[in-house]
Amino acid sequence: MVDLQQQIASKVEASRNDIITFIQTLIKSPSLANDEGPVQAIIQNKLNSVGLDTEKIVIRFVELKDHPAFSDDGFSPDTRVNVLGHWKNKGDGKSLILNGHVDVVPTGLETSWTESPWSGLVKDGKIYGRGSCDMKAGLASGIFAIQTLQDIGFKPNGDIMVQSVIGEESGGCGTLTNIVKGYSADAAVILEPTSLKICPIQSGALTFRLTVPGRATHAATRWDGVSAIEKFNLIHQSILKFEKERHNSFNTDYFESKDRVAPINIGTIKGGQWHSTVPESVVAEGRFGVFPNETARKARNAFEKHIHSISNNDPWLKENPPVIEWFEGQFESGQTNLDEPMINSLIHAIVRSTGDAPIIEGVTYGSDLRLFTNHAHIPAVLFGPGDLHLAHAANEYVEIDEVLKTIKIIANMIVDWCGGTVD
Ligand SMILES: [Zn+2]
Repeated sequence: MVDLQQQIASKVEASRNDIITFIQTLIKSPSLANDEGPVQAIIQNKLNSVGLDTEKIVIRFVELKDHPAFSDDGFSPDTRVNVLGHWKNKGDGKSLILNGHVDVVPTGLETSWTESPWSGLVKDGKIYGRGSCDMKAGLASGIFAIQTLQDIGFKPNGDIMVQSVIGEESGGCGTLTNIVKGYSADAAVILEPTSLKICPIQSGALTFRLTVPGRATHAATRWDGVSAIEKFNLIHQSILKFEKERHNSFNTDYFESKDRVAPINIGTIKGGQWHSTVPESVVAEGRFGVFPNETARKARNAFEKHIHSISNNDPWLKENPPVIEWFEGQFESGQTNLDEPMINSLIHAIVRSTGDAPIIEGVTYGSDLRLFTNHAHIPAVLFGPGDLHLAHAANEYVEIDEVLKTIKIIANMIVDWCGGTVD
């Protein structure tokens, strides 16, 4: 085993330039939502060259629209594809999915970037560009882990599936398509940027609209009216307290900031029509955080109950209750139990290949993890190279050494999880 691990390590080091070049090629193919086709072709070629059986899966919203986890991202259906690469083996070991998304978020102001966001520039041990960290380097790491094992003649017992998916940033229609079509395995590693922390837990987020009624009257006699802005202010103050109370009532052990696991954010407020009229309505839109282990339905109920209880304590709101609507993104939380064997397998792979102490941490952002845990019903973790704080930012980059570490770790995990032998 020690020998195998050394072979993996030296093979990865020897492939350093190939790895960098491949990640640069991916970055140079801008793959914003709805424009993922060209980069998927590059991925498919690479998977073919590694000897995997590949297939393209078309995303059809009509097949997803009734699914509870479906979010219509408003982009054209029926033209976007996932690429799958199958490393079919004897099949008598445990199987594994390596999942990564190729869609990237917009660049923001290009003038904020030192180089073009699509440069793939390599400097001081880093690869720069939109999608470098989130998450083309991660996806590339999974593919190179397979290539490394093939190069040293390792034959896993279990099947391995690379899933290069689209649409993660806009709601997950790519991974959901794979799940609806029945693609599954005994576990999944999603190669998102986690700075090599194991992230088996994620919060969710629900988008809401809150309409608070008032009664218009002339400002000169404002006491005769009811200001919707003042009523909204009352509700907002109470929502901030509610956010704190919720954090006290849920287990947030695995999160870095235990009071920031499931934020409630008011993002927009529109109220009133005229400076000299008492405002008769406020419409506020926001994002309601869902705790791990809390269903979206329970979270919605909790918020509605809270708004109801504030209203009951106010004579106007009691008679004229605010209206809550849930719209657009409704992202559940997701969680893999820490006693799942796959987590142990990843922990051992980290220790074996790097000597680093494994860190387990929950994350507060949305990802495809929830789709695997809640709808494919398989254990899944986020794990990959890159610092989340650099994702979606200008001058995004990934550390090359971290990419190489990931490849070694994933290759070692495959050896442990899928079993197998060297020819
Ligand atoms: Zn991502």
